[in-house]
Amino acid sequence: MDFSPGISYLLGQLGKAFLSPGSHISLLSLLSALFVALAVLAVRRYKKRRRVRLKLLLRALFPKRVVLSKSSFADVGYFYFNVFVFGILFGWALLSYDTLSRAITGFLTSAFGAIPPAPLPGFAGRAIITVMLFLAYELGYWLNHYLSHRIPFLWEFHKVHHSATALTPLTNFRVHPVYMCIFINILAISMGLASGIGDYLLGQPATQYGLSETNIILVFFIYLYVHLQHSQVWIAFTGWLGHLFMSPAHHQVHHSRDPAHFNKNLGSCLALWDWMFGTLHVPAAEREAFEFGVEPDRPHAHTIRGELLAPFGRAGSMIAKLFSPRPGTVPLPSPEQERI
Ligand SMILES: [Zn+2]
Ligand SMILES: [Zn+2]
Repeated sequence: MDFSPGISYLLGQLGKAFLSPGSHISLLSLLSALFVALAVLAVRRYKKRRRVRLKLLLRALFPKRVVLSKSSFADVGYFYFNVFVFGILFGWALLSYDTLSRAITGFLTSAFGAIPPAPLPGFAGRAIITVMLFLAYELGYWLNHYLSHRIPFLWEFHKVHHSATALTPLTNFRVHPVYMCIFINILAISMGLASGIGDYLLGQPATQYGLSETNIILVFFIYLYVHLQHSQVWIAFTGWLGHLFMSPAHHQVHHSRDPAHFNKNLGSCLALWDWMFGTLHVPAAEREAFEFGVEPDRPHAHTIRGELLAPFGRAGSMIAKLFSPRPGTVPLPSPEQERI
């Protein structure tokens, strides 16, 4: 069997993931997150009049119990796996995004008539569509995440992400392919709707500002703090900032094993949608005490069998139960059958 096409495809995907500046895991964005974390820790130590030494800061950022944990090793496996399948899944979703966007513009034009092109300079139209698409991305992310927590069938597939007991930026890739497939299709719908409505209102198609095809506002947040959401570094936005933006501590609370934190903070970069829909938990300024994970001693956590295959079995038995007759609905034998 010739594996070389698969290997060269994987290498190409890895190159894109690390070297493309707009990628969700680009080396540049990881470096940027490292500088942000170092700066925050250094300022914190300085304020407490403690010594600020790079060695100590790096030890605080990369504790051995996290770097060498089974959970982190499993994350590396998920990363390779998802980098491999992501390109294939994303290809399907892009198709529906473009089709839906054009269909929405066409529908609005036939229903309400064409709008003449807005008398705006080109950059203003692009800026408007950039903001609209970013908000649509965030809403699609929130909605998919909400459904994944609230529908037991979908939770079986999302639980994989929550079984991480240590958080690193690679935990972002610890997702089941079924979750990924639903996510990118929900995104295609929310962003397709926004693009179609935006193009109609502007009277002409507009292209968002982006960095290697990723929305520039999303890229800004990836460089600033999204990587630190999956880390041990407690950076909490409180007050009004905590109602608008999903700080690293917000997402760490989302991974908490404490039932008080379940189903909270479902957004990606923004806390706005959580605030609007009542799922926001603004973290305390000082680290809150809780552990990461879903349940203590989860069997086969961090294995292919436990996290990639078992969810199909559990979700399948849920569906089977829906179709199996309940005790009260079993038909009684007819008199003829009883005689036999
Ligand atoms: Zn979740
Ligand atoms: Zn997470």
